[in-house]
Amino acid sequence: MRPPLYITMHDRDNVAIVANDGGLPAGTVFPSGLTLVDKVPQGHKVALVDIAAGEAVRRYDVSIGRAARAIPAGSWVHERLLEMPDARSLDGLLIATVKPPPLAPLEGYTFEGYRNADGSVGSRNILAITTTVQCVAGVVEFAVRRIKSELLPQYPNVDDVVGLEHTYGCGVAIDAPDAHIPIRTLRNISLNPNFGGEVMVVSLGCEKLQPERLLPPGSFSIVDERNPTPPELDVVCLQDDAHVGFMSMIDSVMNTADVHLKRLNARQRETVPASELVVGVQCGGSDAFSGVTANPAVGFCTDLLVRAGATVMFSETTEVRDGIDQLTSRASSPEVADAMIREMAWYDAYLRKGMVDRSANTTPGNKKGGLSNIVEKAMGSIVKSGSAPISGVLSPGEKVQQKGLIYAATPASDFICGTLQLAAGINLHVFTTGRGTPYGLAEVPVIKVATRSDLARRWHDLMDVNAGRIADGDASIEEVGWELFRLMLDVASGRKKTWAEQWKLHNALVLFNPAPVT
Ligand code: CA
Repeated sequence: MRPPLYITMHDRDNVAIVANDGGLPAGTVFPSGLTLVDKVPQGHKVALVDIAAGEAVRRYDVSIGRAARAIPAGSWVHERLLEMPDARSLDGLLIATVKPPPLAPLEGYTFEGYRNADGSVGSRNILAITTTVQCVAGVVEFAVRRIKSELLPQYPNVDDVVGLEHTYGCGVAIDAPDAHIPIRTLRNISLNPNFGGEVMVVSLGCEKLQPERLLPPGSFSIVDERNPTPPELDVVCLQDDAHVGFMSMIDSVMNTADVHLKRLNARQRETVPASELVVGVQCGGSDAFSGVTANPAVGFCTDLLVRAGATVMFSETTEVRDGIDQLTSRASSPEVADAMIREMAWYDAYLRKGMVDRSANTTPGNKKGGLSNIVEKAMGSIVKSGSAPISGVLSPGEKVQQKGLIYAATPASDFICGTLQLAAGINLHVFTTGRGTPYGLAEVPVIKVATRSDLARRWHDLMDVNAGRIADGDASIEEVGWELFRLMLDVASGRKKTWAEQWKLHNALVLFNPAPVT
């Protein structure tokens, strides 16, 4: 039995979280002399001092709410004792005021990746079959099964074949102002660096999202003086008169796939600098440890990536909304801060249309894990972004064009965030979890980081990194951050597979469609 332990995030905080597995009973005396007056579950907050009714409850040196009544020292501070503050207005924010000292460059780190014609680098060698509409999903799934069993064995250098299935494409208001979001998302996913530029499409024929609208000429290939004429898009259209019978469609998909597989099979890994990593970070199934162990370790690793010249993006708009002033002040320029405010304002309006606000984000599991509300969750979520200046902002579905720390605006929904980060061009995904989720993506490797040792022990063949060792006192944030950085280079090189890859666990692509369906 470990001695009773609580973890404080800041000197000015008046609450801390209980670290011990299983929580601690009333009457427990901490080394500081504080005595628990309630039983406090693991990850939940304890009052360090007497807190008066109406006084701010502080964690991460910010107010996460006001005390609904007087809270004596040693009490369990659960969500019913907290009145949540309103969201910070988007007016009068500090703009690009924080100038962190420049981070020392990190040189000499490399990985083995697949260099593409457009300069991007893949971490896997995958044939992706783009679909224009859900109607073709069953046919593509059937074809993919046969490609895997009959063609893939001839191309040992190709890792996988993936049908890019989704529920968009028809029955949607395709000319609505926000329809460009799902369309460009799907376009940019087709161009993810892991697919080597080998774009092929399966279309039904009568759908609203026609192949040329999804991938116009020149959008999926390099057009320059050496290749002045953009190639034609490789489309299998199921309603073509040429198809007589289902097997004719399957043969057609397989023959087209064969051409692309041949070219993909010739791809070779080569040594590239760590600056070619494009990493998306997110969290899911969060608990109070997310912001104490896993997310700070990811944040340390984010700084390592920025120092190495790589691209790293954080997202999840509802989970950073309450820290907007921290973020705009960390923007590298007023333009970047303005872009961030624009994205937050757009999302506020989007939520308002549905008669909710950012407080709709927290789940029953978050609360069970000790997170009282979205303010507390946001403070723990933002630390994934480390300390570097924020050098760019992406709207949902846009592709990243620069290095450094990027804010990619996405919903916090794990599946939608992952899908949008794929479109942004990630070649590696890092996912932290406290409650536990078996999340994975078929398109890029997902490294999962557990926030607690208890979860890492029980899910030993699902979690890739145990950041719970930080709360146990067995490792520092820096040590886990470096471990994650080295693991990224190994996974990106194909030397190591993540647990999700080994078990072939992956979630569906979920396109973010804020526009109406018809
Ligand atoms: Ca998430």
